[in-house]
Parts: sequence; structure tokens; C-alpha cells
Amino acid sequence: MATPDEIIRDEIRALAGYHVPDASGMLKLDAMENPYRLPEDLRGRIADIVAGAEINRYPDAGAARLKARMKAVLGIPAGAEVILGNGSDEIIQMLALATARPGATVLGVEPSFVMFKLIATFCGMRFVGVPLAEGYALDAERMVEAIETHRPPLVLIAYPNNPTGNLFDSAAIERVLNAAPGLVVIDEAYHAFAGRTYMDRIGQWPNLLVMRTLSKSGLAGLRLGFLAGRAEWLRHVDKVRLPYNVSVLTQLVAEEILKHQPLLDEQAAAIKAERTRLHDALARMPGTTPFPSDANFILFRTGAPQRAFDGLKQRGVLIKSLHGSHPALEGCLRVTVGTRDENDRFLEALRESLA
Ligand SMILES: *Cc1c(COP(=O)(O)O)cnc(C)c1O
Repeated sequence: MATPDEIIRDEIRALAGYHVPDASGMLKLDAMENPYRLPEDLRGRIADIVAGAEINRYPDAGAARLKARMKAVLGIPAGAEVILGNGSDEIIQMLALATARPGATVLGVEPSFVMFKLIATFCGMRFVGVPLAEGYALDAERMVEAIETHRPPLVLIAYPNNPTGNLFDSAAIERVLNAAPGLVVIDEAYHAFAGRTYMDRIGQWPNLLVMRTLSKSGLAGLRLGFLAGRAEWLRHVDKVRLPYNVSVLTQLVAEEILKHQPLLDEQAAAIKAERTRLHDALARMPGTTPFPSDANFILFRTGAPQRAFDGLKQRGVLIKSLHGSHPALEGCLRVTVGTRDENDRFLEALRESLA
């Protein structure tokens, strides 16, 4: 019998795995979840829908009704095709699986969403992350150079970027779109909190795909992400999708909730208002410097990141420490925007921790 060392791929054995900290009993401001629940009456309607769902049957593999609803309410341009994923993480995996020729590179930036690199590794691809420039800006010059060197079949750009929270300059993104030999995926996971999108520009570049998720807009537990783009690409990506990846319950519940899109918009507006308040409070607090954010979280720097993180945790508040994960994130922590009350609790706990 062989040992795991002989059987499990080297690059997989070397991984630490995606660590999800235990948050039981904590105020959870670490994962960009929406703090608001759905209203009582809608939850009741969802209960009825779930009660009536035929879970003895496989889901509609093509999710036709849900896709039609999404096309109607999510600003997907006419003519664009859509693929659904069990969260957008799964869609990134499909894109990697479909493009993973031996030796192929996924190109991204650093720091950015850590799943890009992890998923590339899972699929046997190399990941190259081009360092962001000053102010966490996209370095178009170095991106184009890296594109010429590595000829990546897949470029992944989070817009706004996680964990930095900013939207990249559109001229820089256009240079990437023009230079890339393959797919450029704009990951708009935080679209609900940002004013800009590439969704309406799908027709403009044949290699542009736009990915979004409902996770950051209040439905993280449901697991539903989508990719929009030209059919000539998506019909191939769709072949590596496992046939029943979006469950019966997810399809039915999402369909119902998307009838109430204004509700999700109102929640996003409340989060954006709180983002401004939280940013101002962090800017005024001695010893903390927040970075601008177009997302539902704020990255901030402090001279005592470990003390801040531990002090918050002791006081029952869980955020994300990025200190030590990348040189550009020295001293940085990331807090998800919560309700007004939650943000006040966070600010108070942070003040005490740094006092
Ligand atoms: C959270 C996040 C995702 C993943 O979202 P799921 O749909 O929940 O899998 C994708 N991209 C970025 C940049 C994110 O921050």
C-alpha cells in the first residue's frame, strides 16, 4: 500500500487548505456576508416553496426558469449566454478545468482573491500574480508583459478587488483585454456595492466574460454564482460543469427571491451608507488608516495588527487579518460592513483593543 506522499500530488500536499475559522457566538465580520435577513413574509413564502419542492427528482440541469429570471433582472445583455455555478468559486473551477492544458498559466494580480491561485493549483495550472502598483492599482504595463511572457488562456480580475476593495482603472483593464490571447474574466462578486460593471460591454470584446455571485448580496448560504458571456465560449465551459450542480432548492428559492430584486437593492444601499460611516470612523480613529472601498468591506492598516485582531476576538468580534499574507498588506485587517449596531460594536471593540 502506497503512502499519501507517493499518491497525492506534491502541489496538493503542499497546500494548507482554505481555512474557515470557527465563528460560533461571534459577531461575524470576516466573510463579506450581508447582515440582513429576508423579511418575514418572504421567508414564509420560501418555506412554502421548499415544502412543495420535488427533492426526490434531480434538478433541471439547465436551470432554464432561473436563468430566464436572472437574464430579466440582473442586467445581462440580450445575446449573452449564462452558466450557473454552486457559488462563483465553482465557476472559476470550471474555467480552469476547461483551459488547463499542460503547463498553462492562470494570470491574476496580487494581492487578490486567494481562491484564484488555489483553484489553478487544484486543476494542475500555474498561477502567476502580477503585483499591484501603488494604491493597489492595476499595473497595466506589467500585466501586458506577463501576458506576453506566459500567454495565459485565463486571466482573472476581481472588480472590485478583494481584499483591497478598489475598482481598477478602466483604461488599464482595457489594455489587458486587448493584449490577452484567451479569456479575461471580470469577477464582479461585489457588484451590488460598486457603481461600475463590465456586464454591458460583453459585446465589445469577444474574450470578455463577466462573473457574479449572489453570495455577497444576502444569499451566501444558497450558493449561486453565474458567468455571462458569448455562447461560443460558454458552450464549452458548460461541458465541464457537473450536470446537477445547482440544487432544486437553490433554483426554486433564488427564482422567488429574484422576484424581489428591489429588496436586495435596498439592503445594498443600506450597506453602502454604513460603509461610508465606518470608513469615516476608521479614518478618525488614532492609529488606523482605512483604504477606499467600492465593496461591502473595508481594508484598514494599523501599527498593531495582531493586538487589534486578538483584542477584537476577545471581545467577540471576528474580522480577517491579512497581516503577513503579502508585503502590500503589512499591518492590514479587513472588516465586513455590518448593520449600524454591529459596526458600532466593532468600532468600540477596536478602540478598546488599540487603547
Ligand atoms: C467571495 C468571492 C467570490 C466567491 O463567491 P461564491 O459565489 O460564494 O463562491 C468570488 N470572487 C471574489 C473576488 C470573492 O470575493
